Amino acid sequence: MLLEGVAAGLLARGNDVDDRGLITTPALEFMVKNTPYSAGIMITASHNPPEYNGFKVVDSDGIEIPRAKEEKMELLIHRDRWGASYQPGRRVINEGRIESYFEKLESQVLARDATQNLKIVIDTGNGVAALTTPKLLRKLGTRVIGINDAIDGEFPGRNSEPRPENLGALSKIVREEEADLGIAHDGDGDRAIFVDETGTVQPGDRTLALVEDELLRSHPGAKIVTPINTSMVVSEIAKKRKGKLVLTRVGSIEVSRTVVKEGALLGGEENGGIFYAPHHPVRDGTIAAVLVVNAIVRNRRPFSKLLDRLPRFHMVKEKIPCKEEAKSHAMNILKTRLKGRISSTLDGIRVDFEGRGWVLIRASGTEPLLRLYAEAKTKNRLQEILDEFRPLVLNAVGDRRL
Ligand code: MG
Repeated sequence: MLLEGVAAGLLARGNDVDDRGLITTPALEFMVKNTPYSAGIMITASHNPPEYNGFKVVDSDGIEIPRAKEEKMELLIHRDRWGASYQPGRRVINEGRIESYFEKLESQVLARDATQNLKIVIDTGNGVAALTTPKLLRKLGTRVIGINDAIDGEFPGRNSEPRPENLGALSKIVREEEADLGIAHDGDGDRAIFVDETGTVQPGDRTLALVEDELLRSHPGAKIVTPINTSMVVSEIAKKRKGKLVLTRVGSIEVSRTVVKEGALLGGEENGGIFYAPHHPVRDGTIAAVLVVNAIVRNRRPFSKLLDRLPRFHMVKEKIPCKEEAKSHAMNILKTRLKGRISSTLDGIRVDFEGRGWVLIRASGTEPLLRLYAEAKTKNRLQEILDEFRPLVLNAVGDRRL
């Protein structure tokens, strides 16, 4: 229904429409960049439950449109005045045509022979990544066991978001099958979360740090982009490998646009988003899988052992309810109270403790709450930070809780 609506509207205004059918968001983005089209539209709710849907609009450079353009578009919709062209556009159907995307992905695989020897369980969560990751790995000769691989917008297999609580079946099958790796994607295939060979779901920022470590060894001095709420493990690896870390506001569009602007090699988010510029600087779950497989193959060590080499930190993320209209007031109170200690206001308020930890307080963009993130090298230090900052935030919100 949404496809027919958006296609009819575009055609009526004189635009040509090329219908690619079911593909992943990163595949669409790649195709827009590498074809003469001026834009792309992905119909998806990304990782959200089946009752949701939406449009992700892609600019001619193959990256999500900037927020300013999105707002302009929303204004046009609310104006609700439409003109039609006397020369409607043409519609062509090229269902599933993503060959050049697939070839480029395949060219990023380092060692085909060794990749063949792996056994990998892939949980595409009934999403469209069933058309890319398992297909690519099977083509390379890897033993692939697919679960939830029938594409179904009702997502009968599991919740579409690849969070640990949704990946119990994947962990179990990785253990039972004695597989080397488990890979889980979200509905539109732009995120990937990995399960090690012991069945443990690994946090996205530790996987990011591993990929970062690998890439910086062969690209010393390269830039890495990550949002301001990412674990210190990523900054520690950048320091160790002489990479340059660039922090952004939270959100995939911020990371994508910064990777391009800074000429960075890699971008990444804690939620399982990996952006690899030599492929295409957008969040892509399948390139994430390729980079993780490359790391396992190159080091000839199990995934859990590779992650064990990374420094460990303790992190908490808390939600503090706060009425929508009171968020900015609470943030202003915090700004005043923390005066002289704030290290960044790029996105929320961040206080750093000389490389031993940090705390970040942000107003949620979508929910009536403030988010409190804290991380430290030791559990005790983390507790100290929380003991100081939790009451401070609660106090700033005061009786404006929900
Ligand atoms: Mg997504």
